[in-house]
This record gives sequence, structure tokens and C-alpha cells, in this order.
Amino acid sequence: MSATPVVVSDVDAVGPLTGVLALQGDFAEHEAALQRAQLPTRQIRSPLDLAGIKALVLPGGESTTMLRLLDIEGLWEPMSHAVHSGMPVFATCAGMILLAERVENPVQRSFGVLPITVVRNGYGRQLHSGTFLLRSEILPTGTTGTFIRAPRITHTGPECEVLAFRGDDPVLVQKGNVLAACFHPELVFSHVVIARFAAMVREQADCFTAAG
Ligand code: GLN
Repeated sequence: MSATPVVVSDVDAVGPLTGVLALQGDFAEHEAALQRAQLPTRQIRSPLDLAGIKALVLPGGESTTMLRLLDIEGLWEPMSHAVHSGMPVFATCAGMILLAERVENPVQRSFGVLPITVVRNGYGRQLHSGTFLLRSEILPTGTTGTFIRAPRITHTGPECEVLAFRGDDPVLVQKGNVLAACFHPELVFSHVVIARFAAMVREQADCFTAAG
């Protein structure tokens, strides 16, 4: 007699399941950072992987390659639906480029969920990458961000909150449930931006639980 299979819910006692787009880029670092923030994660490589997730992360990497792979895997439509669904979304760098309303250098397709214009590699190429002090009224003094061939935000819509600047440039933005950074908080052991996102995910999950 075969044993009855035990179906374990993705949303178990550990916390709300967070999907991490895992086609290309530094998704492993994002997963590790989320797990350090006590969020269970699942790699998103095909449309079925999106079932049951409560939050979504788009990593850094190369946005043109990600676009190609999203098409190949049939993920463009399902991901577009997910990022517009109201679930908490966090994106860094290439991920942020995918979320932007307008992308330049060159112009490319995007999900358009964040009212920002970004210029790819807007701080120059590899030589100009590095760690910079962020200017912010809400992040602790001394918070830094690591920029790697980062996009530059050249315009933000009025509904977009700017949470941090590098010099005069917005580098951390939020619109409702969507948070995005030009820099890479996942690369340090513990970063306040990951903690902020984890809090957003838990808060939203609690709301749904409370609503029954
Ligand atoms: N330069 C990359 C792009 O245009 C982004 C770099 C990154 O994610 N660190 O997609």
C-alpha cells in the first residue's frame, strides 16, 4: 500500500513565500539575503513557479538577457501579471530596469509598474562602479549602497516616493508595494533595505491573514 502523499503548504509557519526570478544574475545572493531576513524563498524559472508566492524579487544582472530569457521561458505575461498584482515586489538594478515605465540607452521593453525613467549604465561602465554613501531621511546615517554598472534614474513620477539619493540622484524608490534600488543591498550581510522589504512582505501577509 502506498503512503498518502503529504502536501505541505508553501505558506507554512516559516513565513510568506517569496519568489526570486532566477533566470540570470545574482538571484542566489538575493535568496540568501531574504533567508537571513527569515523569509522562505522559491526560485522562479517557469510560470508554474509563481503559484502561491506572496512576494517577488527581481535580481541584478543584465536586463537584456533577462528579457530574452523571460520570452524563452514564457514568463513575460505571468511576470507582468505578478508585478502588477499588488503583492510586495523588490527589484535591484537590472530588476529595477525591468520594472521602470521608461528605459533609455537603449530604449527597451519593461513591465512599466514603476513611474520612473532609467538610463542603463547611467553611471558609466565597470570602472565607475563602487560603494557610495546614501543620502536619506529614513535610512540610518552612514547607510551605503554598492553600485555595479547601475542604471541612473532621470525622472520620477509624482506618485513615486524617493527614499534615498546618491548625490542628487534618486537611487531607492517606492510606489505602494513596489520597492526598487539602483544598488545591491543583497551583497552585504545585513542591509536596512532588505529589512524594509521583509517588513513589507510580513505586513501584507498579516493583513491577508487578518482578513481571513
Ligand atoms: N547594466 C545592467 C543592465 O543594464 C544592470 C547592472 C546590474 O544589475 N548590476 O541591465
